[in-house]
Amino acid sequence: AWDITRQREVQAATAAALAQEQAATEHARELDRVKGDFVAMVSHDLRTPLTSIIGNTELLLDETGELSTVQRQLLGAVDRNARRLENLVSDLLLLSGVESGKLQLQLRPVTMGQVIDGALEALASKRSADIAVRLEVPADPLRVLGDPAQLERMVTNVVGNALKFTPPGGTVTVRATSDGDYVDLSVADNGIGIPEAELPHVFDRFFRSSRSREQQAQGTGLGLAISKSIVDQHGGTIRAAATPGGGTTFVVVLPRLTAAESTAKEPA
Ligand code: ADP
Repeated sequence: AWDITRQREVQAATAAALAQEQAATEHARELDRVKGDFVAMVSHDLRTPLTSIIGNTELLLDETGELSTVQRQLLGAVDRNARRLENLVSDLLLLSGVESGKLQLQLRPVTMGQVIDGALEALASKRSADIAVRLEVPADPLRVLGDPAQLERMVTNVVGNALKFTPPGGTVTVRATSDGDYVDLSVADNGIGIPEAELPHVFDRFFRSSRSREQQAQGTGLGLAISKSIVDQHGGTIRAAATPGGGTTFVVVLPRLTAAESTAKEPA
């Protein structure tokens, strides 16, 4: 009899603990949703005044001859910082859209080569001749089912970081390979690297490594959080590791689309 009573007690306690845990998860989810909505709302409302600040500053800067050098410098600083804020606001809006699933992916068969080319084109103006970019993409097209614009945004973020955090004389290697079921995209640089202890946090919102803060590199720390959300939505994974010999390597793994699947999924 004791055994049965004891067993019932244990069962009741387990059920209570489970219910509590479920309530906590639901609460956390609700909190996340409210936070997301709040961020989206605030970002949205910040955009209108910012557009006005940037537009009017540009008008003033166009007044050639009417401004003193000092006035021009001060307005230049207003312009640069307003643009930084604008970037931050659009990243926040994008992130809350991606995370809440409001950003609808336009899925279609896309080759990794196209995505990489698009990203490199987007980065063309930021590339300096002092950093070599090596491209290793197989002749065989590696296809995935994805949203080309979002995948390109993700690759642009990762390759853009590699370029940003690699000093002159360095090399950035972009490589696409496949083991059959998956496509691996790796972006390896031999730049400033990320301290081992900080690696687990690289995909956190607003993360900026101690090294990049020392160097006063500009950034919002949202690019990789956005990239990870994009990869997640494509059923893939993204991770970061140290490059042997120094630097950082990012590896993105996406489910591969076979030739048969890609013809089946091609829009008629
Ligand atoms: P941002 O570049 O705008 O700061 P990201 O989310 O793209 O934001 O990157 C977050 C941080 O991760 C960067 O500030 C930097 O400290 C670190 N990081 C990202 N990529 C690299 C890289 N290739 N090499 C060294 N540090 C990097």
